[in-house]
Amino acid sequence: MLDRLGRPLGSLRVSVTDRCNLRCRYCMPEEDYVWLPRRSILTFEEIERLVRVFTGLGVTKVRLTGGEPLLRHDLPELVRLLARNGAIADLALTTNGLLLARNAAPLRDAGLGRLTVSLDTLRPERMLEFARSARHAEVLEGIAAAGAAGFWRIKLNTVVIRGYNDDELTDLIEFARAHDAEVRFIEYMDVGGATHWSMDQVVSEREIVERLARRYGRVDPLPEHGAAPAERFALPDGTTFGVIASTTAPFCRACDRSRLTADGTWFLCLYAADGVDLREPLRLGTSDDELAAIVRRHWEARTDRGAEERRAVPGRAALYGIEGLRADPRREMHTRGG
Ligand code: SAM
Repeated sequence: MLDRLGRPLGSLRVSVTDRCNLRCRYCMPEEDYVWLPRRSILTFEEIERLVRVFTGLGVTKVRLTGGEPLLRHDLPELVRLLARNGAIADLALTTNGLLLARNAAPLRDAGLGRLTVSLDTLRPERMLEFARSARHAEVLEGIAAAGAAGFWRIKLNTVVIRGYNDDELTDLIEFARAHDAEVRFIEYMDVGGATHWSMDQVVSEREIVERLARRYGRVDPLPEHGAAPAERFALPDGTTFGVIASTTAPFCRACDRSRLTADGTWFLCLYAADGVDLREPLRLGTSDDELAAIVRRHWEARTDRGAEERRAVPGRAALYGIEGLRADPRREMHTRGG
C-alpha cells in the first residue's frame, strides 16, 4: 500500500498518554494545558486492535511514545499484548527516562525490543532550568537499569538548542560511548508546542557535523538510511552517532511513518493540521476490515510533506501560538507523540 508519493506505510508511533512529568521548554513551556478527556483515551485492548489493523496493512515498526509513556499505568502489559503480534519486527519505546529504572526489566520481560531515552544535557542544573525537573539522576539511573536489563545499543535523543546545550555535543558523544549507546542529535523543530521556537536557536546538522569534525578530526557519513529519519556518521575510532535534520534537511520523501494519539486520532504527518478519528468507528463496532479500509483510503490519498513545506515558509516562526494550541490540544507534540 503506497501513498500518492509512492511511500509505504511502514511505521506507526503510538502515543499512550498526553501527560508528561517534564516541562521541556521546546515542547511544553506553558503553565497549564488542555488535556484529552479521560474517557477518550484508548484502552490497551483498543490500542492492540488498532495496531493489528495497521500491521495488516504493512506496518512492521511500532514505537510507543507520549507524553511520557511510562506515566501510563502498567505499560509493560501493553507491550506484552503488542509483542504477540508477529508482524511487528521492531517494537520500541521513547521515554524521558524518569521512571525507567523501575520499568526497564518489566519492559524487557514483556518483549520490548528497543529503547530510546531523551537526554538533552548531562548537567542537572540545566535540566532544572530547561525542563523544570530536579530528577536528572533518575534519568541516569534509568539508562543504567536499561543496560542491566539487557537493552542493547540504547539510543539517546538530544534536541540541540543554541545557547542551551550546544556546548555539550562532545560530552554527550563520550557519555554514549561509555554506556554502549548512540546519540542522535535532533534539530530543534517548529512543531506544535514549541511556542518559543526561532530559527536562530536551531543548530543545523551541518553545523553539528562541522563542530564534531573540528574536535575529532574526521566525521564520515554512513551509507543511506532509507526510511529512518537519522543520518548516521562515524568518528575515526568507529564511534557512531546520528543527526535528525527535520528542520534544515527534512526527509519527507522517505517518510513512512504516521502517528496515533492516545485518543485514537491518526495523523499522517507530524505537521498535519487534522487527523483521522479512528476511536469513534472502533467504539461503534466497526469491523477490522472496515477500519483497514478507512486507513487504506487515507494513506492512498496522502500527499503530506509537512517538514519540507515548513522549510519553504519565508520568515519561519513558531507553528502555533498558545491560543491555537488551546483550541486543539491534538496540535501539541506531546499529544501526537514525538
Ligand atoms: N516523553 C518521551 C520523551 O521525552 O522521549 C516521549 C515523547 S517526546 C514528545 C518525544 C521526542 O520528541 C523527545 O525526544 C523530544 O525531545 C522530542 N521533541 C519534543 N519537542 C521537540 C522539538 N520542538 N524539536 C525537536 N524535538 C522535539
